[in-house]
Amino acid sequence: MIDPCESAPSWIRSIAPYIPGKPAQELAREMGLDEAGIVKLASNENPLGPSERALEAMRGALRDIARYPDGNGFELKRAISTKYGVDMTQIVLGNGSNDVLELAARTFLAPGRSGVYSRHAFAVYALSVQSVGAIHIETPAVDFGHDLDAMLGAIRDDTAIVFIANPNNPTGTFVSGEALRVFLAKVPKRVTVVLDEAYTEYLGDQDRYDSIPWIREFPNLVVTRTFSKAFGLAGMRVGFALAHPDVADLMNRVRQPFNVNSVAQAGAIACLGDDDYVARSRALNLEGMKQVADGVAAQGFEVLPSRGNFVCVRVGAGSDMYQKLLRLGVIVRPIGGYAMPEWLRVSIGLPEENERFLSALREASGGSGRHR
Ligand SMILES: *Cc1c(COP(=O)(O)O)cnc(C)c1O
Repeated sequence: MIDPCESAPSWIRSIAPYIPGKPAQELAREMGLDEAGIVKLASNENPLGPSERALEAMRGALRDIARYPDGNGFELKRAISTKYGVDMTQIVLGNGSNDVLELAARTFLAPGRSGVYSRHAFAVYALSVQSVGAIHIETPAVDFGHDLDAMLGAIRDDTAIVFIANPNNPTGTFVSGEALRVFLAKVPKRVTVVLDEAYTEYLGDQDRYDSIPWIREFPNLVVTRTFSKAFGLAGMRVGFALAHPDVADLMNRVRQPFNVNSVAQAGAIACLGDDDYVARSRALNLEGMKQVADGVAAQGFEVLPSRGNFVCVRVGAGSDMYQKLLRLGVIVRPIGGYAMPEWLRVSIGLPEENERFLSALREASGGSGRHR
């Protein structure tokens, strides 16, 4: 290792690189496939493509890209404030919600302090804790989901932050609003709880809960949301956190002044107002979830019940199913990095994309059932 790398902090040198879903273009290049025929169900993106309203707003915003964006994101914060009933001082904008997750870590953690998250939880929590040299505390899961009691029990004197994804990625597991409230009431006030609700728009009526009013009661609660999933703007990189104004103020000090670009701000404002697009996204997902989960189960594979826009399928230890699907032009996500080497995560796509996945799975597994 060259000298500068050698002298980087040990916690940086030991970071395991994040492995994103394979881009369709990359697979096309590697396997000599036609990119147009590739189905990518690997990154939980919105298969509808962007909302027309967002596209139009973003085209308009292109005219001004020689200027810096509004570093305060005034118009976007105003739109968020109106939609979610929060004060503008409670909002932290991020270059994707990954950015705000990291801002929370940088605001509250440091070497010698610890961050708590669950086994099989979203990878960015571990990365954020590690990149600031803090101590990791990973709690065991129950049925692949968050064990809130275990998380409470894991909080120590040096714990500054707890991350919870609800629903969780990659498992799709969900904890009820009531369980979360009970948990929040028990967490010491000095510990920040980051509640990552990247998939909350996909929840059905029976699961829906509203965590935003809780911020009043629990000033240590930070709720994060994203425009990357149900709002269809993953490529624009925009998300936000809602928190007590003092917490938001601290996080905003750590934030890069121009972290959300002007085109993204315009697109986000437009799709916040496009309820119809979000409703269509949710309806398409519910239908597609049934298609994929039923189709996979009919082929004899185990699936984890999921509240997100993706589902985990058990293909077994040492399976080469991921590679086989790639050769058939279908990109899904191996999740060995999430301590789930027997599983693949499949994003819900358009009905015809889901069907492509199901038939590729059938072909790759030789059409036989039972694949535990
Ligand atoms: C996709 C996802 C996000 C969103 O990330 P962005 O940076 O906003 O694109 C956040 N949390 C979880 C759990 C996710 O799966």
